Amino acid sequence: MEEETTKENQKGIKPLQRECARPPDEGKLLRPLKETVKKARKSMKQKFAVVHRPDETSRQLKAELADKLGEAGWTEDERQPDLVFAIGGDGTFLYAVHEYLDQLENVKFVGIHSGTLGFFCDYRCDEMDLCVQDVTHRSPQCESARLLQVTARGGGQEKTIYALNEMRIENVTKTQLMDIDINGSFFETFRGTGLCLCTQIGSTAYNRSLGGAVIESGLPLLQLSEITGIHHRAYRSLASPLILRPESMIKLRSASFEGAFLCYDHLCFNLDQETEIEVFQSQKQVQIARYRDLAYLQRLRILF
Ligand code: NAP
Repeated sequence: MEEETTKENQKGIKPLQRECARPPDEGKLLRPLKETVKKARKSMKQKFAVVHRPDETSRQLKAELADKLGEAGWTEDERQPDLVFAIGGDGTFLYAVHEYLDQLENVKFVGIHSGTLGFFCDYRCDEMDLCVQDVTHRSPQCESARLLQVTARGGGQEKTIYALNEMRIENVTKTQLMDIDINGSFFETFRGTGLCLCTQIGSTAYNRSLGGAVIESGLPLLQLSEITGIHHRAYRSLASPLILRPESMIKLRSASFEGAFLCYDHLCFNLDQETEIEVFQSQKQVQIARYRDLAYLQRLRILF
């Protein structure tokens, strides 16, 4: 059909009908999309490190994981990884976090459990293929968990440490007296074995064994629980766990912490010199890469 001469096509404007009838250049259209997919795939090829329990099964799992990630084009880099895999359990995950404490801003963590699942671990050891498939092809939901910052002072010295689950003061050799200040005000004097201050994520760990409440994820609260407190006519303290605001500052003071230990996650040190311990939730946080859509309460039901 001959093209109708109109005012518009005289000006060089092509009739709409003709423009639509021209077959689209598929190659041209798909090119940007292919480039985007290529870029996304490339950005998914990351540097990884593996921290594992020192048992034979975990060692074998580490080798299997490293092989599979290598086949997918990933590079093992223990010094500056993008993703750290912890193979073992929640305890191994804690260990891995402390290993990379100075790089938390740049590192994400994935947990693989050699038993069931864990609060930090989303994959069982028989799900290695699924884990590799997820990390190499999908973007994770990142769950962040802030760490406690603990400063112990005394004897002219100061020591600062970080904890993901909790910090505890424990004295099994003699009754520990401690004054507790919260947000600059005296709260009470505690007598007994010790105290445990946990984060939301640590609420299912030692805190739970002390009868503390489990705190749902998304509530970055702190919880202070007694470890075998003494309660009778002469001495009383709150006795029940105390849930505190995220920004709370807790100070524990004593004329002597001799014989006591400051325990934090799987670590501890002796408090013979110290007389004051200050704790608050720091800005330092751990990024847990979650590829599985498992609600917190569902996880809790499976694990307990
Ligand atoms: P560990 O053997 O590494 O861990 C002891 C147990 O606590 C293990 O079963 C571990 O799970 C579990 N766990 C660790 N973090 C957890 C969390 N956030 N929620 C639920 N369970 C958790 O022992 P560790 O090296 O001495 O200490 C590491 C942590 O274990 C501490 O931070 C403390 O909270 C916890 N712990 C608890 C108790 C207790 O409840 N009486 C005693 C000691 C230590 P996996 O088996 O998956 O590793």
